[in-house]
Amino acid sequence: MFKDFKKLQVKMPKKFSIWHIIIAFGFFILLQMYLMNPGVRDITYSEFKKLVKEGNVLECHITNTIIRGKLREIERGTTKNAIFIAARVDDPDLVKDLESMGIKYAGHYESPWFKTFFFSWVIPLLILFVIWRLVFKRFGPASSIMTFGKSRGRLYAQEDLNVTFDDVAGIDEAKEELQEIIEFLKTPEKFRALGGKIPKGVLLVGAPGTGKTLLAKAVAGEAGVPFFNMSGSEFVEMFVGVGAARVRDLFNQADQKAPCIIFIDELDALGKARGANPMGGHDEREQTLNQLLVEMDGFDSNKGVIIMGSTNRPEMLDSALLRPGRFDRQVVVDRPDLLGREAILKVHAKEVKLEKEINLHSIAAMTPGFVGADLANLVNEAALLAARRNKKAVGMPEFEEAIDRIMAGLEKKKRLMNKKEKEIVAHHESGHALVACSVPHADPIRKISMIPRGIGALGYTLQKPTEDRYLMTRSELMDRIAILLGGRVAEEIIFDEISTGAQNDLEKATEIAKLMVKEYGMSDKMGLVTFEQGDRPLFLSGGFASSKEYSEETAREIDLEIKKIIDESFHRVKALLTEKKEILSGMAKTLMEKEVIEGEELKKLLEELHKANGKNVSVAQAS
Ligand code: ADP
Ligand code: ZN
Repeated sequence: MFKDFKKLQVKMPKKFSIWHIIIAFGFFILLQMYLMNPGVRDITYSEFKKLVKEGNVLECHITNTIIRGKLREIERGTTKNAIFIAARVDDPDLVKDLESMGIKYAGHYESPWFKTFFFSWVIPLLILFVIWRLVFKRFGPASSIMTFGKSRGRLYAQEDLNVTFDDVAGIDEAKEELQEIIEFLKTPEKFRALGGKIPKGVLLVGAPGTGKTLLAKAVAGEAGVPFFNMSGSEFVEMFVGVGAARVRDLFNQADQKAPCIIFIDELDALGKARGANPMGGHDEREQTLNQLLVEMDGFDSNKGVIIMGSTNRPEMLDSALLRPGRFDRQVVVDRPDLLGREAILKVHAKEVKLEKEINLHSIAAMTPGFVGADLANLVNEAALLAARRNKKAVGMPEFEEAIDRIMAGLEKKKRLMNKKEKEIVAHHESGHALVACSVPHADPIRKISMIPRGIGALGYTLQKPTEDRYLMTRSELMDRIAILLGGRVAEEIIFDEISTGAQNDLEKATEIAKLMVKEYGMSDKMGLVTFEQGDRPLFLSGGFASSKEYSEETAREIDLEIKKIIDESFHRVKALLTEKKEILSGMAKTLMEKEVIEGEELKKLLEELHKANGKNVSVAQAS
């Protein structure tokens, strides 16, 4: 279809802008001025008569409305000819005067309809047409009926990607699994000679931002092959049939560029299970999906075209897509662990200047749960902060602030709370922190703050996990629940009243208790039984797992056990905070003054408060 790729790129629509219209209008006005009035002197009829009498008119054409001609002009001593135009007046002496002066003249009958027609119809229509074309081009080729079905937009191969496996860090297992694909793309002949079967489709499964697109690009970069990048949602257009045509075009082009990689981002937008929509099928998507299946089947994989898809919801995909010969190989792209995060930070830190004492390992330790994209964002934010502070290199304070920002949304210092709300929030957060400093198995507190950030949260207490946890003991989980309840219990003790601010804490606490009973077998009564299978993606476990594998009776007992854990924790926290009520109030007071208390300060503050109140410092874990 598109034989020559260069040509295709030339044909790509230019960006439409208001300048096009302005230039078009300017041009039109100039044209009109020229046609109507091509550099002529506009003179009155009486002037014309005078010029005739002086013998300065050389020749003239007379139409029924105007007189146009050449006249002689004396300007700064030199004579030159100029064109003039004058409106014609009914003057019976005109011809006589012209003849008496010996001036050449000719009559014209000019029919006005042509000009009128030209200016009031042809030109406006032309302009409308031009604008129409520009506007349609702007909204993309698919909305123009004329380019219907041709996936011109973004569909071109990226070559010389300059992305290698060195740019992808922290997901070594996935990289290893893709090594074979690279070998194949590099030397397809070798594999063909051996008669080996190479997968056609590879599905990258992982959360957004874990680096799936980057990984696919790196595979193309390592193998040195062209890379076609399309998003699943781009296929689904408003006209039925466009998506299918796009798929056809895509495979056509890939065919000519083989060996190459086709990458389809958000495969789930396109490959959602057919019939999964309760409102009835989505014709267009189904057609597109069918076309994709047809193309994949009709493709000879030994040609060297690898189709990579990415999704974060593999269980949503139509099972037809996962059959042998299609996306039959799945590569899981995990969230990076501590070492992985450090490696990713290293990759992105190359691009900025860091202070010498920066410890990427400790930054990685502060960012559990961050994916590659978050970490890239973090380095960038920190660099921006350093620039704003006119620093020569990025230091730890910038990183810490950037982490806080990304973790909890931007600080909204301007948002005001009334005094009562402030008091409640201060006591709530102090409650969390005080419990965390008093129980034996808590992560140290990094910061308490009552500066609202993002939506919903009025304050927050940040704990600093020292490492990623894969194993947790029962007492650790119980301590976690206690810390979560600390906020609400503090409100209750101080104000004898509770606010809506603790809802999220309660949810999390209940969630932990539920896991303890149902999955970890940590409840005495229910014993060593698991009532829930891990959420395995459906395509791995095969078929739909029934969601409940126990009786109503058991369900009630589980609920009772969960409630018991929460209740016990509640009493424990209440006893603890009641005993340290003065300390709690002291902390809240300091917090209201300072708005933020950092780890070191908190430790000192707690020591002082304990001394002042004659309590012995228990496990003050603040760091
Ligand atoms: P996904 O496709 O999984 O949503 P992307 O590949 O688009 O994620 O990742 C977005 C950006 O985040 C990348 O361009 C890269 O800068 C950064 N990034 C993500 N994962 C990694 C990683 N493992 N190593 C290095 N950078 C990463
Ligand atoms: Zn809370």
